[in-house]
Amino acid sequence: MVIAGNWKMNNTREESKKLIKELIPLAKDVNCKVVICVPYTSLETAIELTKGTNIEVGAQNCHFKDSGAYTGEISAKMLKELGVKYVILGHSERRQYFNETDLTVNRRVHAALREGLIPIICVGESLKEREDGIMNEVISIQVSSAYTGIRAEQAKDTVIAYEPVWAIGTGKTATDEQAEEVCALIRRVMKDHYGDVANDIPIQYGGSMNAANAAGLLAKPNIDGGLIGGASLKAKDFAVILNAAG
Ligand code: PEP
Repeated sequence: MVIAGNWKMNNTREESKKLIKELIPLAKDVNCKVVICVPYTSLETAIELTKGTNIEVGAQNCHFKDSGAYTGEISAKMLKELGVKYVILGHSERRQYFNETDLTVNRRVHAALREGLIPIICVGESLKEREDGIMNEVISIQVSSAYTGIRAEQAKDTVIAYEPVWAIGTGKTATDEQAEEVCALIRRVMKDHYGDVANDIPIQYGGSMNAANAAGLLAKPNIDGGLIGGASLKAKDFAVILNAAG
């Protein structure tokens, strides 16, 4: 199980320090992988503070070039140098507000893997796509596009997060069955591409997962973890989810 917190654009460096110090003792005995994806400005602090603990640090995006005239961007190489392990790619907020497309997600996946970062690749349908009955096609295309040109031995070092757009930050969670249905579809798509390697690729659910609903979602056979937004900003709530996974 991989439980990752997505802090989004929250927490100054001082606030990050406080939250991480609170989280370290609460997370130390859990049986899942623990990742916190913090803002760029808190990466170095998070890496320092979590040294020697079971908490790993991720970023929330990376550019696909190593360097160049891309004002405001951060490359996978820069993240790697800091000691970052994971990077969230294709989050629906980036697709919605920052023109992220399946093509650019794929380019970022290549860049992350080139540097040995583990991408957490986000896919998910909008409410309209679900209601229009094209959810399966949307998910299959997002997954297949993200992995274009990625070989099986690279794919095994990735994580997929199924995040229905209508459930992110809305307080509306997919039911355990809805989440499992789509995670099982993702597993089938990955099996078509990579055979048995697909069994070793963690598939997370994300979308208003919290202390109250985590256990039911994480008990489903094709849900191997969670990507947690709001509930990862409170150490105690995040710890309940970590324990539900363990
Ligand atoms: C997310 O941002 O990936 C997420 C799942 O957010 P929330 O848990 O707040 O819905």
